Amino acid sequence: MRSCRAVSVLVSQGLDKKLSLRERCSVWLHVMMCTRCRNFQTQSQFIRKAARRYTDDLQSRLGKKS
Ligand SMILES: [Zn+2]
Repeated sequence: MRSCRAVSVLVSQGLDKKLSLRERCSVWLHVMMCTRCRNFQTQSQFIRKAARRYTDDLQSRLGKKS
């Protein structure tokens, strides 16, 4: 089993690029058992989504102005 540190790195990478099946499996297996990493994954995905929504909103506003 991978360490929490290794899993959090994979979780962060997974936000920006597609992980390999093997990487996704190890993350999945780890978060099944580790609440801390599960919370980290949920929070990261939430923040990423919120940030994207904010940028999209900002871009559409700027687009309307120009
Ligand atoms: Zn963990």
